Amino acid sequence: MKTVFILLLVISTSASAQFPRFKVLAFYNKHVESAHVEFANDAIKFFKDLTVGRGFVFDTTSNMADLNDDKIKDYQLLMMINDFPHSPPQREAFEKYMKNGGGWFGFHVAAYNDRTTKWPWFVDFLGGAVFNRNNWPPMPAKLVIDDTTHPVTKGLPTTFIAPINEWYQWKPSPRERKNIKVLATLSYDNYPFGLKDIIPGGDTPVMWTNLDYRMIYLNMGHGPHIFTDATQNRLIISALRWVIATDKKGNVFEH
Ligand code: ZN
Repeated sequence: MKTVFILLLVISTSASAQFPRFKVLAFYNKHVESAHVEFANDAIKFFKDLTVGRGFVFDTTSNMADLNDDKIKDYQLLMMINDFPHSPPQREAFEKYMKNGGGWFGFHVAAYNDRTTKWPWFVDFLGGAVFNRNNWPPMPAKLVIDDTTHPVTKGLPTTFIAPINEWYQWKPSPRERKNIKVLATLSYDNYPFGLKDIIPGGDTPVMWTNLDYRMIYLNMGHGPHIFTDATQNRLIISALRWVIATDKKGNVFEH
């Protein structure tokens, strides 16, 4: 009898997953270029649909002032859909959150920085990458997966055609930093890339992580086509799952 009781206890413990498993707070801006607003609307729908069954919570805000210690403390991941921290208090709160082991998922313009940004920590966080140029108009692109053994890219084809997007090239390439792991890159087959604005060549990582933080950046995020490709959608979901799974407090997917 005692053995049966212990056995039942073990079974019930191992099956006692907590739902929701994690909480995401996504920031977006309604007053930016229309292609970035279109993407935000699609992204919010895409991620909200993934919460079916309350596997996780996906909260959204269009108020960047919500980037403060008190508001973000209960979230395992901050997502920047089409914006980035602006004011010193927002930047300070974000920096502190990341240094304390928080998670970040940035799309497209979330990593944008240039000489006017004046936020050295952020440039370092991104692997030194500063916006250099983009293709125009937005176009589909052949991507190369740099490492098909990484949890984010495992099982993907080594190349695929990503849907229409505006692609950014960074200078210097974040690949030059030892603490940066590049996961996907614009294929050289695309060059010269663009019809109006041309990326003539060079190294153009489009997805990477800084190994010193729990973060991932994806360059996708311009216009209404981003979620139209199953391979890319899988990549996006895997990226989200991976940042959550690497929480130092434990992997919420293990139960
Ligand atoms: Zn754009």
